[in-house]
Amino acid sequence: MDMQTSLLDRLFDAGLLIETGVDGLYGRSGVFEDVISRFEGLISAYGGAEGAEMIRFPPGMNRAHFETSGYMKSFPQLAGTVHSFCGCELDHMNLLKCIDEGGDWTKTQEATDIALTPAACYPLYPTIAKRGPLPPEGGLYDLQSYCFRHEPSTDPDRQQMFRMREYVRIGTQEAVTEFRQTWMDRGVKMMESVGLDVEIDVANDPFFGRAGKMLANNQRDQNLKFELLIPVNSAAKPTACMSFNYHQDAFGAKWGLAFAGGETCHTACVGWGLERIALALFVRHGLDPKAWPANVRKTLWG
Ligand code: ATP
Ligand code: ZN
Repeated sequence: MDMQTSLLDRLFDAGLLIETGVDGLYGRSGVFEDVISRFEGLISAYGGAEGAEMIRFPPGMNRAHFETSGYMKSFPQLAGTVHSFCGCELDHMNLLKCIDEGGDWTKTQEATDIALTPAACYPLYPTIAKRGPLPPEGGLYDLQSYCFRHEPSTDPDRQQMFRMREYVRIGTQEAVTEFRQTWMDRGVKMMESVGLDVEIDVANDPFFGRAGKMLANNQRDQNLKFELLIPVNSAAKPTACMSFNYHQDAFGAKWGLAFAGGETCHTACVGWGLERIALALFVRHGLDPKAWPANVRKTLWG
């Protein structure tokens, strides 16, 4: 049995995660959820005073927006779309026959207007663009969503459905890069305040294919993505628990995010992988939060 399987098994045995029969798709216990909600409280304690507009989108997004985002170009291997039965009565009879015979009934499903949200900020950009030009100070948004990524794994820190909390800044290049730096500093402080060992490293997204390698190299060379890493499965290979992404004016141009004078906005987002952070805490301090160090408990529970 490898390390990962044993961590997952320990989490199942403790009842923190609940098995569904699919790798990367788990139920969560009340104790697990309490840790996530307390950590979210900590995020809000750090970021709450800045007056971010809170928006909560469901875990599915407008498929047309998903297409415009270019996700299928960069990450086709991770994408998920919602399909449904759209046939007539005869089609239904054929469907039932197919199921009875153990055939592949999913072939008859058709794409709906909904794609599964791949990152919490994806539905935001078209929403803000639709409002019209941004004020000179830009905008700041507080998001949280379940996200889907088709990356089945028995590492509990790589799930197919997980939550991402994000702050997104839309504004001038200066405002946006300052925002990202501020959160890199705060991110480290925040994790240290709950007893986690952190390091920050330059990173790249898992772009698909050979052309994707160039995108990934470019992203690294230009320091567009940083990750805050914390040991979960292994101390030698810590896990990305936060990411800090600067999109330059790429999303601004794609979605038409602009100031009243017509100048394209820059954007950046900081994201917390909430399950990964909860797991890092359980690995560091033990599977029973009541037994966590007093200072950590105080930071999270007050
Ligand atoms: P990785 O390199 O580990 O696949 P990523 O670069 O794809 O992560 P982002 O797209 O930056 O991740 O997502 C933001 C945050 O969401 C990450 O920092 C991480 O904490 C979390 N996250 C990403 N993928 C997963 C996953 N499969 N399961 C749980 N959390 C995840
Ligand atoms: Zn984002």
